[in-house]
Amino acid sequence: MADKPSHDQERENVMNHLANSVLELSDEELLAEAEGAATQQAERTRAVLLGTARLLETVNQQLLSLGHTISPQRWQQHADRGYRNHCLTCGFAVSLTPAGEIWGNALEARCPQAERSTVRKRTASAG
Ligand SMILES: [Zn+2]
Repeated sequence: MADKPSHDQERENVMNHLANSVLELSDEELLAEAEGAATQQAERTRAVLLGTARLLETVNQQLLSLGHTISPQRWQQHADRGYRNHCLTCGFAVSLTPAGEIWGNALEARCPQAERSTVRKRTASAG
């Protein structure tokens, strides 16, 4: 038998130590700890939402300049990676994450439907 405690034994010792230190805290101390954590979480969430709102504004402007039509209400949660939207006229997609990653074919080309409708209008006015 080895003299060193096994990893399981060490883990159990750590867990017991943590449990004991939590048990030694007063109700007030526990509440204060929980409130502090909740406040920090709320501040973090607020910062993420604010960042996402600014990012959406930037992406919407970029898509508009390429002739795409994006409905700001149509951003949908996309897997675990963030949000996705589609151009209402051509269907090209754009995706973004709250971390600031932006990708999708809508950002790589002008809206083909917008180009076509411009050509159609020109043809109609000429003939
Ligand atoms: Zn489009």
